Amino acid sequence: MSADFGPQTQAHGVYSVAGEQPRVGVRLQDEAGDVVVDVSALADRAGLPWAEALSAPSLNPFMAAGPRVWAEHRRWLDGLLGLDGPVPDAVRDASHALDDGSRAVRLHLPFEVADYVDFYSSRDHAENLGAMFRPGQPPLTPAWTHVPIGYHGRAGTVVVSGTGVRRPVGQVRAPGAEHPEVVASRRLDIEAEVGFVVGVGSALGDSVPLERFADHVFGVCLVDDWSARDLQAWEYVPLGPFLGKSFATSVSAWVTPLSSLEHARLPAPAREHPVQDYLDDSAQPWGLDLHLEVRLNGHVVSRPPFARMYWTAAQQLAHLTVNGASLRTGDLFASGTVSGAQRDERGSLIELSWNGEQPLELPDGTTRTFLSDGDEVVITAWAPGPGGTRVGLGEVAGRVEPAR
Ligand code: CA
Repeated sequence: MSADFGPQTQAHGVYSVAGEQPRVGVRLQDEAGDVVVDVSALADRAGLPWAEALSAPSLNPFMAAGPRVWAEHRRWLDGLLGLDGPVPDAVRDASHALDDGSRAVRLHLPFEVADYVDFYSSRDHAENLGAMFRPGQPPLTPAWTHVPIGYHGRAGTVVVSGTGVRRPVGQVRAPGAEHPEVVASRRLDIEAEVGFVVGVGSALGDSVPLERFADHVFGVCLVDDWSARDLQAWEYVPLGPFLGKSFATSVSAWVTPLSSLEHARLPAPAREHPVQDYLDDSAQPWGLDLHLEVRLNGHVVSRPPFARMYWTAAQQLAHLTVNGASLRTGDLFASGTVSGAQRDERGSLIELSWNGEQPLELPDGTTRTFLSDGDEVVITAWAPGPGGTRVGLGEVAGRVEPAR
């Protein structure tokens, strides 16, 4: 099996080594190890016009350069990273080990998050949550099969993988209680999601049609949308998620370019109704065959299949802008929790434990309904790549810290 971060993947991130400014790097895994390649220095040496953008402490300037530069950069990286031959010595010399345990390399939030939108596009997840939050009513709202449902999240609390997540405090009302109380959340959960990162913005008043998706979206990251279910249940009617979600959203330190996922494209599942013209993706489907894995304290608890998502990212972007809302470099929109039809394919603990009624058993003999202090959740994913290789999406990890 090939490495998930071989030369076919070209995952971009922002890193620093002691005493130096953060800059853009590309991850490379091969028989020689797992490294970050200093593409900023190599591009400067090669006199590439976009070298300065790669010296920035975020991916935003490079992403803003647009799809022609992304394509030229990719052709340059194909040679540099040894896609068709050995890795040049100059590249080895400009690399820093990620796996030597010395923690000499620090990974930063890879892009400055402009706006953050979170969708709700897994039918399995939406039906599961609907059944739990609104028992006795149809699990899907009437709009769900017509519009990609979403909400605007909090860009300022998006954190990079590895950042500790403090258990939030907030207002909840216990089942059967007359009055609410302010407590540390007792139902802290995860949501395993895939995020899409906008490189090229759009003008206020314009829409981004489906066929322009890849002109605007640079790449894909993994997202853990931490959720306090008890806060959420009390506050969410009628305007949707608020403080139950806004305390932290974790993203992977690596953004895998959309151009690395050509071999993962497939049609989305059949629609229940014909969709509106602006959402009709039959000519250019953007379903993606991504395989997620969720680990709780090192133990795999779920393998959510992204290929089952009802709405694709291209449809989400078309919907996000159909009213003329503009895009900015660094906008992040996430898929919504990825869940499949099977129990071991559900992307949240509220589904895995069925609202806390069916605790999960872990190999250490403990059980979980929701997260305990000290628990660590790690989400990884891969996609089929060229010639039987795999394309990795960077991991997103977080450990729960006790409430203040
Ligand atoms: Ca979510």
